[in-house]
Amino acid sequence: MGKLFNCKACGNEMAKSAKTCPNCGAKNKTPFYKKWWVWVITVVVVVVAATSGNTGSENNSGNTSAPQKNSPKISMEEFEKIKTGMSYEEVVSIIGGEGELTSQVDIAGYDTKMYTWQGEGGLGANANATFQNGALTSKAQLGLK
Ligand SMILES: [Zn+2]
Repeated sequence: MGKLFNCKACGNEMAKSAKTCPNCGAKNKTPFYKKWWVWVITVVVVVVAATSGNTGSENNSGNTSAPQKNSPKISMEEFEKIKTGMSYEEVVSIIGGEGELTSQVDIAGYDTKMYTWQGEGGLGANANATFQNGALTSKAQLGLK
């Protein structure tokens, strides 16, 4: 025999395992909100949502404390839009901000500049683009999302 409890409809004592009340025939159904797993799922969803929200803000604060305060980030999507032959200004408008000039070489009339952008993604994600006489010749990325 299972545990006994009182019918919600008529108050008759009945087995918890019974599908309907033997006295009044009311369905013995635990209300949705009283099921333990509903709360477990609710808690898990809330915790996951809160955790992912915190992770985002932690990333932001972590980056603002980095030396490149104003450095805009480049995403994988933006990286893919960058095409050979583009000017630095075009690339900047795609990414949304200036890159950091990490190297500049001027040899025999060839002005070669390499810019680096911090990337959206994991720690150390970045992308760089090399311009020769103002036109993009190559690009590379690491860990972009
Ligand atoms: Zn009943």
